[in-house]
Amino acid sequence: MPGSRPVLDADERNAVAPPLAERLTAGSLTDEELLRATEGTPDERLLPFANVLKIGGQSMIDRGRKAVFPILEEVVAALPHHKLIIASGAGTRARHAYSLGVDLGLPTGVLTTLGTGVALQNAHILGYLLAKHGIPVILPNQFGQLPLYLAERSAVIFPGMPPYTFWQHNPEVGLIPPHRTDTGTYLVAEVFGARSLIYVKDEDGLFTDDPKRNPRAAFIPRIGARALLQRGLNDLVVERAVLEFMLRARHVRRIQIVNGLIPGNLTRALAGEHVGTIIDADEGETSA
Ligand code: ADP
Ligand code: MG
Repeated sequence: MPGSRPVLDADERNAVAPPLAERLTAGSLTDEELLRATEGTPDERLLPFANVLKIGGQSMIDRGRKAVFPILEEVVAALPHHKLIIASGAGTRARHAYSLGVDLGLPTGVLTTLGTGVALQNAHILGYLLAKHGIPVILPNQFGQLPLYLAERSAVIFPGMPPYTFWQHNPEVGLIPPHRTDTGTYLVAEVFGARSLIYVKDEDGLFTDDPKRNPRAAFIPRIGARALLQRGLNDLVVERAVLEFMLRARHVRRIQIVNGLIPGNLTRALAGEHVGTIIDADEGETSA
């Protein structure tokens, strides 16, 4: 597990093996032993105080005013207390585009390009609604400015899709892009070593099945990422790729899913309370 490995200083590393720089420049980057040697230095959390949130596309933004205004009110109320990196989901318009693309025989990479456009639309919707608070929308090539905006305005908005466009990997099953806005949001939280990652959706968290389809689905307040993958549930509240990435995370080993339709949930989650479901990479089993 990252974090628990012994940290060697440069002299100690050089005593057990030739200097890493020498090995990396001369060696093969597919040599597993050499790759392992790169773990000998401590990881830096780049923005350890930042909280990453994703505001769901279908689950929140597509519901319009009655869902979006209250959640943005909570965001604004949090600004004096928290630094927020806010991702937009894509949602129903992306699903429509995917269905058209599938009907027309377009590949996953092209479907991804279409979904990316919808996440950008939603980022702009959130951005214009928060414009009076001076909160900018940033695109992938503007992430270098993110720390300044966070310092100055306490929040930024970005489109949640990872910017792979047609470099998206083919999924194991079907054609729909496997890394969508949940995954893009996760990757941003992980790279910055964020304090928290909160998914704001329209259900109380994770259930044993989609509660919209199965009224007997049981709520799971807390579970390990591996245990959840092993359960092989037919459907999940977050993209499966998020759970897979969590198991390799160096920083963000815990995510929280909250019901953004219930006022106060986001605020409570930002305060560190256990509302909704917590999925933890380091949790062995369900305590549900
Ligand atoms: P987003 O709007 O963030 O993209 P999604 O609509 O993709 O969110 O995912 C959230 C939805 O997932 C919930 O509204 C719920 O209907 C559905 N869902 C599917 N499986 C589950 C599950 N096991 N537990 C909870 N919700 C689930
Ligand atoms: Mg989704």
